[in-house]
Amino acid sequence: MTTEEFIDLRSDTVTKPSDAMREAARNADVGDDVHRGDPTVNELERRAAELVGMEAALYVPSGTMGNQIAVNVHTEPGQEVLLERESHIYRWEVAGASWISGLQPRTLDAGDRCVPTGDAVEEGIVEEDLHRPGTGLLTLENTHNYRGGVAVPKAHLDEAAAPAHDAGVPVHLDGARVFNAAVALEVPITDLLERVDSVNFCLSKGLGAPVGSILAGEEAFIEEARRIRKLLGGGMRQAGIIAAPGLLSLENIDRLAEDHENAALLAAGLDELDGFSVPSPDTNIVLAHTEDADITATELVEACDAVGVGASEFDTYTTRFTTHLDVDAADIDEALARITEAVEPMATA
Ligand SMILES: *Cc1c(COP(=O)(O)O)cnc(C)c1O
Repeated sequence: MTTEEFIDLRSDTVTKPSDAMREAARNADVGDDVHRGDPTVNELERRAAELVGMEAALYVPSGTMGNQIAVNVHTEPGQEVLLERESHIYRWEVAGASWISGLQPRTLDAGDRCVPTGDAVEEGIVEEDLHRPGTGLLTLENTHNYRGGVAVPKAHLDEAAAPAHDAGVPVHLDGARVFNAAVALEVPITDLLERVDSVNFCLSKGLGAPVGSILAGEEAFIEEARRIRKLLGGGMRQAGIIAAPGLLSLENIDRLAEDHENAALLAAGLDELDGFSVPSPDTNIVLAHTEDADITATELVEACDAVGVGASEFDTYTTRFTTHLDVDAADIDEALARITEAVEPMATA
């Protein structure tokens, strides 16, 4: 890379499709996927289901749509959905659970644990009666985005899922970055997903595909999910054009370890800066807390941008940096040098 090149650490969604992906898109065998006639999409769905150890899978345009379809299919309007307080489904999906599916959210606090305890879940479950709505679904998230890409261990997921299942409540995992979790925890993905009924994972984040997510679960669940995808306008025609790079993206799972190493490098470097507190990350998301430096996230993001580093504002004093397929260790060194230069005058101001 040249020194003028922008190092974009805003998100792992910013990756550009590789030459191989563009070539695969160009050569993809396609058909009308709404009629299940696109062989490339069919192959992606088959391979994805097999990969996560579930009966069936559905290719959807985005993680948000995958989650919202799952929320809708698992529940009935007027029920409650149990959501962790800092979860993506609760905070960043435009109140879709209420808006689209007519649910009342009940939030659980999980703190740094990221997934509620079994006791918290049990306490949160409401049994339907004359006055009470009944709980339709529990959702969990792994890795946990807001807490900084935390890889939640299987034991915690299973503990949260148990009381839900005991009460006949299904469990959906927002696994936008669940492969980052599996790689970081060094466990097979099928182990992590053993006790969840459905999972959504993004092809367009760390795996580097241009578009799309996968929703997986039981055959009957996916059949209904296909219908709700149509309802939401997510029925696509010659989608093999975008599914072909998606298929290639499944080959990028093991290399996520590199992103995690780069994130650890970045965190260690940033943590050296005056007044910066930057915990070593589990995966590819680095959170820089800068309250002690008296630098707001708005100021830090602006300063980074001015020196050619993309970052994203997370909270008043928290800024997120995300590593991905398009940055290597040399880019991280360069980013650190630029950020150091950018914050020096701010710290002494
Ligand atoms: C990115 C993300 C989503 C949504 O995915 P989109 O493809 O951006 O709609 C859902 N959950 C989590 C945890 C995410 O990080």
